[in-house]
Amino acid sequence: MTIPYGKQTISEADIQAVVSVLQSDFLTQGSRVPAFEQALADYCGAQHAVAVCNATAALHLACLALGLGPGDLVWTTPTTFVASANCALYCGADVDFVDIDPQTWNMSPDALAEKLARAKAAGRLPKVLVAVHLCGEPCDMAAIKRLSDEYGVAVIEDASHAVGARYRGGAVGGGQYSDITVFSFHPVKIITTGEGGMCLTNRADLAHKIALLRSHGITRNADEMEGGSDGAWYYQQIDLGFNYRMTEMQAALGLSQLQRLDEFVARRHVLAAQYDELLADLPVGLPFRHPDNRSALHLYPVLVPVQHRNRIFNALRANGIGVNVHYIPVHTQPYYRKRFGFAEGDFPNAERYYAQAVSLPMYFSLSDEEQRFVADALRQALQEAAA
Ligand SMILES: *Cc1c(COP(=O)(O)O)cnc(C)c1O
Repeated sequence: MTIPYGKQTISEADIQAVVSVLQSDFLTQGSRVPAFEQALADYCGAQHAVAVCNATAALHLACLALGLGPGDLVWTTPTTFVASANCALYCGADVDFVDIDPQTWNMSPDALAEKLARAKAAGRLPKVLVAVHLCGEPCDMAAIKRLSDEYGVAVIEDASHAVGARYRGGAVGGGQYSDITVFSFHPVKIITTGEGGMCLTNRADLAHKIALLRSHGITRNADEMEGGSDGAWYYQQIDLGFNYRMTEMQAALGLSQLQRLDEFVARRHVLAAQYDELLADLPVGLPFRHPDNRSALHLYPVLVPVQHRNRIFNALRANGIGVNVHYIPVHTQPYYRKRFGFAEGDFPNAERYYAQAVSLPMYFSLSDEEQRFVADALRQALQEAAA
């Protein structure tokens, strides 16, 4: 038996949606991408959505749209995938981190408040904050918004784990607490397009800039051109953009998957509640869920005794269980150490979390039986490690 930590669920309807695109005239730049954008904007209650080729590109364009450039600074959490920080470096900006809260595993609002006060005194405030909803559990966005308003910092929500999540009753992506929200549709995430990402925003200017940069910085709108249009064939490059477009096949798959988003998240909640119960008597820390939120439950990490983590991890892998570790603190990556001088001990809560974390399998089609097998294997590994 091999059980991965995460995987996609593809239905016959998903397959038909992609096949029908392949049988149509447009594999790119047709009607499916705008339809997927509109459907996800509607789902989240956002004004604008711009689909791109992956969430890394979405983060890059979000930073550029917010005017990030050389000399600027971005802060994010160390407990994330490297893409949450790399987006700043693509723009020539620098990166620093705010340590996590040991209970929620998300960026600590207290640590953020302290660091902002110090940064203001030192005259080196960040231009953009990237808040990451780890495991799909929303950050304390009310606190983050209060602080970002006070200090004049833009906020990007890296909601790669959190499509389908709700914060205080509103869908993540609705944009009440941030400038731009980014989703990922990588196959391990909640819904998939193979590769894919989306930027959501309530600001027309940001949506327009992101859409422009997604396609080379080229416009076909005569009102935006210098000197007007030469004819129906004409376009002008008015900015330096990229080819970060999503294909029609990807958007068709995303639209089809979106129909089942709530079903996917609901099953993850059943599984999480069952894990909570199966593991209740074990010496492990379980993922935090705030009662006022709905996590998308992308991941279900447990915290095991630090001295036994590797042994437990290896025992689970030896049982055919594809456990993983999310995440190695970004500031400890060699590239970040060398470039910025970060060292072990800089963000102790993120480092302590990392040393204990093991992500258990969590995905829609994980069966109750497979889940009990995982829980039993973890119980046994803990006992053997402690013996
Ligand atoms: C998956 C992920 C990304 C990158 O998503 P891609 O679509 O693979 O580019 C960024 N941030 C976080 C937190 C992620 O988990």
